[in-house]
Amino acid sequence: MTESILVAGDWRPGRGEETPSLFPADGSVNAVVATAGVDDVNEAIERADRARREPAWRNMRPHERAAILGRASDLLTGRAEAVARLQTRDNGKPLAETRALVASAAGTCRYFASALETLDDALTPPRGDYLTMSVHEPLGVVGAITPWNSPVASEMQKIAPALAGGNAVVVKPADATPLVALELGRIFDEAGLPPGLLSILPGRGSVVGDAIVRHPLVKKVSFTGGTRTGRMLAHIAADKLMPVSLELGGKSPTVVFDDADIDHAVNGVLFGIFSSAGQACIAGSRLFVQDGIHDAFMTRLVEATARLRVGHPEADGTQVGPLISEQHRGVVEDYVKLGLEEGATLLTGGERPRGDGLDRGSYYQPTILAGLTNAARVCREEIFGPVLVAMRFADEDDLVAQANDSVYGLASGLWTRDYKRALRVARRLETGTVWINTYKQISVSTPFGGVKESGTGREKGVGGIRAYQQQKSIYLGLNEQPIPWAGPVIEEH
Ligand code: NAP
Repeated sequence: MTESILVAGDWRPGRGEETPSLFPADGSVNAVVATAGVDDVNEAIERADRARREPAWRNMRPHERAAILGRASDLLTGRAEAVARLQTRDNGKPLAETRALVASAAGTCRYFASALETLDDALTPPRGDYLTMSVHEPLGVVGAITPWNSPVASEMQKIAPALAGGNAVVVKPADATPLVALELGRIFDEAGLPPGLLSILPGRGSVVGDAIVRHPLVKKVSFTGGTRTGRMLAHIAADKLMPVSLELGGKSPTVVFDDADIDHAVNGVLFGIFSSAGQACIAGSRLFVQDGIHDAFMTRLVEATARLRVGHPEADGTQVGPLISEQHRGVVEDYVKLGLEEGATLLTGGERPRGDGLDRGSYYQPTILAGLTNAARVCREEIFGPVLVAMRFADEDDLVAQANDSVYGLASGLWTRDYKRALRVARRLETGTVWINTYKQISVSTPFGGVKESGTGREKGVGGIRAYQQQKSIYLGLNEQPIPWAGPVIEEH
């Protein structure tokens, strides 16, 4: 029995390949999806473009669109446990994490519903005998392309604001994790979204994703994924003169100053890199510890890392689940090998865990490499796994120079009791987000995005809806007389 996909209101098998969704804990098949083919993509986009022009959607008031989003949020909350389990099956994240992600996705949907109800358009100060207003209108059909690491959150983060903005949305989830996006499709159906406005098109990026990005009726692409793919999409978007938002990779520095609260810092560093088995764009994967506490801190950190509970993602208490696939574990292993060849010292990890059924899944031990400088490839490239590279620094200037010496600029973390220093350094770090004495906390009301090769554009916040709209200026003439320039001609006639 294969899973159907959602093509502009119709649930049916796609015309692409049949692709299995695999459980990374043991390789068993969760479902087989009849993925989309290029014909499905074209049909979905053409029908989406018609649906978004229908009066039923075009004339729907913001509070009515908000009501649909509100119902979708309630439906997701009502089946939260089932969706969390589905995501755990799809990508192997521990249930504790997927439960939090589902709650966050429901909150995102609710937030954009509320924001939509309160957004104003503007009357602008007139400079003539007319009334001027600036209104926001939908862009049209929007493509949303997402990665496999946090599907429910990254998909809702695009679907909700794009629908709030009055658009139609065509979603291309990652090939490895199609199931949650399909469930979101069912939820928006049940919430009363008019047919055609949302399509869920699983399939390969190079086929389905590429067809979405190139389609002339697609007016914006919101992409989350790797920097290499993002750059490719940006080139296509440039040719179409189409806006594109890019949430890309990272190699985020976490910094522990001499005066940090050590207990908090150890916990924060562990959570920053090893939650989600390091498969997070914002993973704090480069650690910088100040000379004065370096040795004591590293001893504590290594001991705590070795105690992390690596285990089955559906078991209570698991902190680190499997990686998404055997193939990805191979990439992570190659990076650790490379780090050792580059001269790193292995402080802990560096192996596949054994026993307790772990041999059946794509698990990898939390790993710390030390003794390298930022020049090493493992300190520069995103590994996207449970691998931390630890370095040291002397003072603020040294730290800022090292932390900013990266093509990436997604996030950073600072651990210090000195808030003046924290704010001073935060302003000097070239990253889209800085966490001070906390890490990996995400709030939907706070804009999120990267600088440098970590991306362009921001998601979340009230501006999250505006990112899916364009402004139109309207002049309403109030003059009782003809426009003076043309007036004499008309009077002479
Ligand atoms: P990826 O390979 O770039 O894939 C992301 C999405 O793009 C997938 O759906 C993929 O399809 C699709 N895709 C691939 N080639 C495409 C093409 N030619 N045209 C259109 N779409 C295409 O990234 P990933 O390995 O799935 O995810 C990991 C990366 O995402 C990491 O670099 C991570 O840092 C980044 N990420 C960033 C954020 C953020 O907010 N900044 C959040 C999460 C993850 P397939 O399924 O076929 O590959």
